[in-house]
Amino acid sequence: MTYMGHLVLPAVEPTELPVSGGGSFPVRRVYCVGRNYLDHIREMGEADERDPPFFFQKPRDAVVPDGAHVPYPPFTSDFQFEVELVLAIGLQGSDIAVEDAFDHIWGYAVGIDLTRRDRQRDARDMKLPWEAGKSFDASAPCGTISPARDARHFNGCAITLSVNGVEKQRGDIGQMIWSVPEIVAELSKQMELFPGDLIYTGTPAGVGAVGPGDLISAHIDGLPSLTITITPREA
Ligand code: MN
Repeated sequence: MTYMGHLVLPAVEPTELPVSGGGSFPVRRVYCVGRNYLDHIREMGEADERDPPFFFQKPRDAVVPDGAHVPYPPFTSDFQFEVELVLAIGLQGSDIAVEDAFDHIWGYAVGIDLTRRDRQRDARDMKLPWEAGKSFDASAPCGTISPARDARHFNGCAITLSVNGVEKQRGDIGQMIWSVPEIVAELSKQMELFPGDLIYTGTPAGVGAVGPGDLISAHIDGLPSLTITITPREA
């Protein structure tokens, strides 16, 4: 849409992520899968392991790249990491069939779903929305995107996260309850997907808390690593 006249405030900055081999991926929306590895559902004490997947969003400007310094956020004393495979959508679609889903994936990346676990537990216990626990500034670190033509399909690939060099999470992408194409198909029943959408696909067991000074490094076989540093809370 076009309005007459000038912007009354500076334009909102776009969010872009680097692509391995060159270029930038423009980010449109950030979707996340709520539960997708049995061992993590069990460590969280969640009830039904066969529930259909559910989705939530983080703000686009919560995305920060590899090497980011992430200030310890306000409104939590239990700030936790979740390593996840991220799908980068390159083709519009709704009601996408499972067998067509790979056509819609432009690339892959390693992501960390940063979480205020205390606020997420409040949401569960008090039946509140998830935003306070999940959708805050810098809560969506995402590594360099690897184009799908260069990436394997990830069944059998290790997904790991370490804090200060000590491994905390280790899983296998093949352990996902809902596979990569099933996630694309399910989400596209709820929301029309567009180029630039990111989908964080859930985390294996081993989530835990971090604090200022901690170095978090996340890896998935075949993808560029993602490393971030937690810094003291901003004044
Ligand atoms: Mn997550």
